[in-house]
Amino acid sequence: MKILIIIIALFFTINGFAQKSNKNVDNSTNLIVITLDGLRWQDLFNGVDTSIANNKKFNEGDSLGIYNTFYKKPLMPFITNIMVENGQVWGNRNVNCLGTVANPYWFSYPGYSELWCGFVDTNINSNKYKPNPNYTLLEFLQKQKSYKNKIVAFGAWDAFDRILNEKRANFPIFNAYDKYINKKSKYADLLNKLNNESVKTWGEEECLDVFTHHMAYDYLTTQLPKVMYIAYGETDEWAHSGKYKSYLTAAQQTNQWIAEIWQFVQTHQQYKQNTILLITTDHGRGLGNEWTGHDKSVPHSNETWFAIMGKGVTPNGFIKNKVYQQKQLAQTLANLLGLQYTAQHQVSEGINLQ
Ligand SMILES: [Zn+2]
Repeated sequence: MKILIIIIALFFTINGFAQKSNKNVDNSTNLIVITLDGLRWQDLFNGVDTSIANNKKFNEGDSLGIYNTFYKKPLMPFITNIMVENGQVWGNRNVNCLGTVANPYWFSYPGYSELWCGFVDTNINSNKYKPNPNYTLLEFLQKQKSYKNKIVAFGAWDAFDRILNEKRANFPIFNAYDKYINKKSKYADLLNKLNNESVKTWGEEECLDVFTHHMAYDYLTTQLPKVMYIAYGETDEWAHSGKYKSYLTAAQQTNQWIAEIWQFVQTHQQYKQNTILLITTDHGRGLGNEWTGHDKSVPHSNETWFAIMGKGVTPNGFIKNKVYQQKQLAQTLANLLGLQYTAQHQVSEGINLQ
């Protein structure tokens, strides 16, 4: 009898240890989401638009430079080569994949809110809208054990404080000229200094992407977050100013940065084979002379795209003859992480990536 009790006790002890050590191994999938504000699918998939490049109003006096750098070359080969080979790319209308935002406004705050909430709140009708009353997927993840306090967001535009509801969300959101704080970093002070002393091309609201990127990259490689969001802004800003060369240059530079991020992911044990990468945008833009703008008065500026690869994504390349809406991405991501995203509002169903 005594021996039986000892055996039973031992069984429970060993079992307890096993469970404990399982809990300490965090196999949860990492997530990296990157947005390029207002990058058109036309430029992404077709390359340089020669009618815009030839137009003196838009070529910044350097059509030759545009042709030399971009003509007949993929604008973002990381997306149209690497991600097509290893993942899925949606929204290429050349192969009849039709992506749109579901919100009726076709500009940034409604677009990002739709992306992160999986839902359209028609009250959000201004970029100046107050802090988002709706709960984003990021805030949902912050409440999950595997992701709590392992989430970070970087945005060139200061509106992300409101879009992601920084006060309520309870994870760090570094925007525009916010002080970048990272105790494990050797570069935080320098990055803050450079950012603050740079030309403030878009006032206090938005910094140059180069600072947002290097802060994000520095954070990724030192803090090893499970979930990271980076929102680049220059593509939209240059487009609004009618500067096509700068718009293309910003997209090309961002392509290189994304490649560097993915390179790091491949070399780090936490991320390798265990990371989802999503790249998308918040809205499209118009055609021809209207390429600079976007909102419901500009036809086609509701047209969007996304590229995804990583754990659980079947490498199906360019998706053809399908329709999707931007509001489906939040649940798509949650499902890839093995979760069902729920909020106080309705959440659109995810996209099947099998
Ligand atoms: Zn815009």
